[in-house]
Amino acid sequence: MSNRVVEGRMVTPERLAELVEGERPMEATQIEDADDPCPDCGGNVISVGYMPSVTAFVTGYKCQDCSWSDREEQ
Ligand SMILES: [Zn+2]
Repeated sequence: MSNRVVEGRMVTPERLAELVEGERPMEATQIEDADDPCPDCGGNVISVGYMPSVTAFVTGYKCQDCSWSDREEQ
C-alpha cells in the first residue's frame, strides 16, 4: 500500500513529497509512518524520502490531519 490519505485526500508518494517541498520531486520512495505524532494537532505523521535534485535526498514529514509538515536533508 503506497497511497495514503492526507487532509482527506488520497496522495501518492510523489504528491506527498510535492506537498512538503512545494514542487514535484525527481523521485520518491514509499510512504511510511513516522515515529512521532504531529506537534500541532497530535495526528498521525507519515514520511517519504525524495530527491528534489540529483544531488539531494530529503526526508519529508506530513501530518495526515492538518497542514503541518517538516523536511530534513540527509
Ligand atoms: Zn497535525
